[in-house]
Amino acid sequence: KDLLKTKRIGRDILYFNSIDSTNSKAKQLASDGKGEGTVIISEEQTKGRGRLGRNWVSPKGKGVWMSIIIRPDIQPIDASKITQVTAAAVSKSILELGIKNYIKWPNDIIINNKKVCGILTEMSGELNKINYIVIGIGINVNLDENEIPNDIKDIATSLKIESGKKVSRKQLVANIFNNFEELYEELLNKNEITHSIEICKENSAVLGKEIRVIFRNKEIRGKAVDLTDEGELLIENQEGKIQKIISGEVSIRGV
Ligand code: ADP
Repeated sequence: KDLLKTKRIGRDILYFNSIDSTNSKAKQLASDGKGEGTVIISEEQTKGRGRLGRNWVSPKGKGVWMSIIIRPDIQPIDASKITQVTAAAVSKSILELGIKNYIKWPNDIIINNKKVCGILTEMSGELNKINYIVIGIGINVNLDENEIPNDIKDIATSLKIESGKKVSRKQLVANIFNNFEELYEELLNKNEITHSIEICKENSAVLGKEIRVIFRNKEIRGKAVDLTDEGELLIENQEGKIQKIISGEVSIRGV
């Protein structure tokens, strides 16, 4: 707590030794009325989730497995901006520990082409009003090589493996709360995510590269050329046509 500069984010932390999924717990607590800034952290997840119900490996004591509840007064259509704000906050926070990292748009953070962090944003609300958003953040912090399951060895790594040193989870979490609150306030106060997008561009793993994107069940190939102020990815195809891809609907292969 002494490391925290925040007013709201992380001032109410619910800490678990073991839980099925921090996002599931956060959703349950949010629908029971838990307020903005509440964080659920667990030492391990027995049923950690990725996108589309995929499994997220979350061994005990080795990572940051947490979910933040927020209740922003923004349009549901803008909810994907939260993923960009979070990716920027986490990337900046890891960099503050001296570890260079890249954002694989829209929701992963990678080092040496392997995932160190995944972000899973889930929303509940109506057409014109968000009830709550739960932001799941899973970071592989102190896993050793032999603690990464074989089936994800080629795609997953940890901060310890990449930096060669043990990382303080407490410091990392405090950095994330501080950075997230600052970037999130830009969205709340100005309805802009300019600062987050700047960080996403600086630390991008995809901009300037030839990529393949699965978007609305169709494959799009081309060069990732820019991020918009709203956080959408612009891809230029062979004919020079620019296509805008909305965050949250794609997977990128080949980066
Ligand atoms: P993506 O964003 O790459 O489409 P998800 O966000 O859905 O993927 O994350 C789930 C996938 O990530 C799993 O199917 C698995 O391949 C991989 N994965 C699972 N646990 C971890 C982990 N701890 N670190 C890195 N990758 C993981």
